[in-house]
Amino acid sequence: MAKRDFYEVLGVAKTASADEIKKAYRKLAMKHHPDRNPDDKSAEEKFKVANEAYEILSDEDKRAAYDRHGHAGVDPNMGAGGFGGGGGGNFSDIFGDVFGDIFGGGGGRGGQQRSSRGADLRYTLELDLEEAVRGAKVQIRVPTLAACETCEGTGAKKGTTVDTCRTCNGQGQVRVQQGFFSMAQTCPTCRGRGKTIKDPCGSCAGQGRVEKSKTLDVKIPAGVDTGDRIRLSGEGQAGANGAPAGDLYVQVQVRDHKIFERDGADLYCEVPISFTDAALGGELEVPTLNGRVKLKIPEGTQTAKLFRLRGKGVSPVRGGGPGDLICKVAIETPVHLSKRQKELLREFQQEMDAEDGKHSPKKSSWFESVMSIFGDK
Ligand SMILES: [Zn+2]
Ligand SMILES: [Zn+2]
Repeated sequence: MAKRDFYEVLGVAKTASADEIKKAYRKLAMKHHPDRNPDDKSAEEKFKVANEAYEILSDEDKRAAYDRHGHAGVDPNMGAGGFGGGGGGNFSDIFGDVFGDIFGGGGGRGGQQRSSRGADLRYTLELDLEEAVRGAKVQIRVPTLAACETCEGTGAKKGTTVDTCRTCNGQGQVRVQQGFFSMAQTCPTCRGRGKTIKDPCGSCAGQGRVEKSKTLDVKIPAGVDTGDRIRLSGEGQAGANGAPAGDLYVQVQVRDHKIFERDGADLYCEVPISFTDAALGGELEVPTLNGRVKLKIPEGTQTAKLFRLRGKGVSPVRGGGPGDLICKVAIETPVHLSKRQKELLREFQQEMDAEDGKHSPKKSSWFESVMSIFGDK
């Protein structure tokens, strides 16, 4: 399919300035925008073609390449990055750029509608590790804007009427003549509401919405972790003029736990053990999130040794089965010893020394290294 000349598409001269190109594109895009021409294939096609032309001609480098080599110079397959097909990102960038000033910076398709949709809210929810792991039902109180009850959301004092704005005839937009074409702008009189209020409602100062807090039940799925978000659709701020409400995002924040530390699906905990247990071996009771379990430790266990209890971790909210509980033993040096206990230890030490480092291999090899560094013998 032979492509039409981009200048011809936008209806501008080859010598057109960047501003002229932008204006021409804006005019075409307004006319053929899919939101204004629902189910009109030919408008959609024209809109696409105009986008493509604008993408090239609005970019100095691409325009120069196009001027020199025609369509071949800006073939998307040649790396110049044309608009054709899946350029959704480009699309909204262009659109936001050109229409941002009209639609209040909303950008993208349907920016006009989006600007009156209620704002999204974020709520940080602190949970204990147990709640996050098992799931929970919690109630939260969220400050939000709700329709004013006094005026039932109209913004007008009881018994008075809301009038249709005379400036825009209730459209919320006015057309402004700029040069040879006209542009839609938010009506300055009613600020886009399409209505004017002579006697504003005292409760909401004519806004139709008031600040209020509402209580929501939130179901927390099992396995959530810090940083996870739960979206409550339509629970954000009420929209203006009957527009849909925004969403509420509940952001999970898990409190530090006294014993466990979580890393993804695994749990970590430190288990202090006596040095006699470490030396003789034995059975320890270690905590899990579902009660205690027994952990066998072998004779001669060293400090910082890790023991893995399979399946005693957390089942993450996105699935994948439970992780492990990893116990790190920390050997505790005995304190507050009695005279008798000290005697026993000294006696014990003598017995050990008599056997020439056999019982402390690490210590022996460490001493050997030290001696070799300093040339002792
Ligand atoms: Zn009110
Ligand atoms: Zn108006």
